Amino acid sequence: MIDIPKKIMFAISDTGGGHRSAATAIIAALDPNNSPQCSIVDFLRATGFPGLKQAPEIYDYCSINHLWLNNLFFQKTNSINRINALTRMIYFQCRQQLERELKNIEPDMVVAVHPLVIGLLRMVRKNSNATWPIITVVTDLVTLHASWATPGADLYLVPTQEAFHSLVKYGVPGSRIIFTGFPVHPKFTGSQVIQSEARTKLNIELDRFTVLMTGGGVGAGNMREWINTLEQECCDKQILIITGNNKQLYNELMNDQNRSDRLRVYGFVSNMETLMSASDVIISKAGPGTIMEGITIKRPLIITEAVGIQETGNIDYTIKRQLGYYCPIPTAACKIINEIATKVRNDDRLYNHEEIITNGSMRIADIILAQLNGIGSINQPPIEEHNTIFRGA
Ligand code: UDP
Repeated sequence: MIDIPKKIMFAISDTGGGHRSAATAIIAALDPNNSPQCSIVDFLRATGFPGLKQAPEIYDYCSINHLWLNNLFFQKTNSINRINALTRMIYFQCRQQLERELKNIEPDMVVAVHPLVIGLLRMVRKNSNATWPIITVVTDLVTLHASWATPGADLYLVPTQEAFHSLVKYGVPGSRIIFTGFPVHPKFTGSQVIQSEARTKLNIELDRFTVLMTGGGVGAGNMREWINTLEQECCDKQILIITGNNKQLYNELMNDQNRSDRLRVYGFVSNMETLMSASDVIISKAGPGTIMEGITIKRPLIITEAVGIQETGNIDYTIKRQLGYYCPIPTAACKIINEIATKVRNDDRLYNHEEIITNGSMRIADIILAQLNGIGSINQPPIEEHNTIFRGA
């Protein structure tokens, strides 16, 4: 008998880089020998709905130029009732496109890796009499928008205890929530790449203290000012800049005749694990994906700012666990970098990565496979009850 592979659809939106990265991480963690067929769909684009189909571009633009608009959207829609009303309105405008998308794929399971897709998926499932389970993977660490708690998912997998409590407060039954850790790509866990090897791969100086700066997929967070200060105040350091999708910044830096030789500029990269391994310290906005990758690869973090309300809690999360610093002022950050450089020289690294779960993508993959293979019913999640959910935390 031929075994037909099961199909999983990952519903995301390319708002920032984090949702796609999380879906890709889970797919990589699913057993390659026994792997279901996986596809990633930008479900907000698939609506074809004006404003939503351009969500990635609008999000990028606002994150860099008009952050207040992103924050206003967050505040005005931050209630389950409002999100349900919005979802219903959008669904009835674009139900044909969405139903077609699902019909084309005919999934056995849908994994929602963006809060605004959960309600749309629930309505498609209900109105097309489908039975595929919906598993939500939450990718914000602490400050959760109400839409993450949209009813309709069979399980909610959360990266932190803070996220667990937040969902419970929004009304999600605790028995449907599992604390798995954040889905960091296995290439970060597996590749505790030796620093010198990573530097050789990148063709950069082997023995120079190295600072990595990234602004998430968008390349957000006042990076230009930071780069100017780093060039002046950390002139003996090697500086790696990842501009992500911020093409304007990339072009500006590439065309800058006065750019220091020690400043390396990269656009959107697919080898973040190598760049992080090559570095001694990571400077970033408070993006959850970047923070968790930096923690996994065991580098101290300097968080510059929260780009959007949803990132605010991530700063405290990092500081409380002594995983890095919050420093919005570039000159002050350079002092911290020089202190870290001294510690690295003396092999005296101070940060504490031990209590964080870094194999979240594996845990999530295990749960997906168990559910897909019918081990345990979705209505009574088979994994853990309230207390044991926190095992390993
Ligand atoms: N990323 C990447 N290439 C880049 C810039 C970012 O692969 O050039 C990845 C990064 O490794 C992380 C994600 O994009 O997985 C960014 O997620 P985060 O939550 O930090 O911020 P967001 O972009 O979602 O705002």
